[in-house]
Amino acid sequence: MILVDSYCGHCGLALDEGSHDACRERLRMEPPRYCVHCARRMVVQVSPTSWTARCVEHGELASA
Ligand SMILES: [Zn+2]
Ligand SMILES: [Zn+2]
Repeated sequence: MILVDSYCGHCGLALDEGSHDACRERLRMEPPRYCVHCARRMVVQVSPTSWTARCVEHGELASA
């Protein structure tokens, strides 16, 4: 099964609903708040140099 990004990681709305250009810009600086697969609110932990964001369903994302 291939998971496709369906939701905006910043505002949690469907990606095909409106424009998320501003959100994408924010996501270059900040961790996502919502899971892009299910739009659940993620548990975000931020440190000075990195971040992790975890969805109970889809696991953890980390900054590069
Ligand atoms: Zn958005
Ligand atoms: Zn998820």
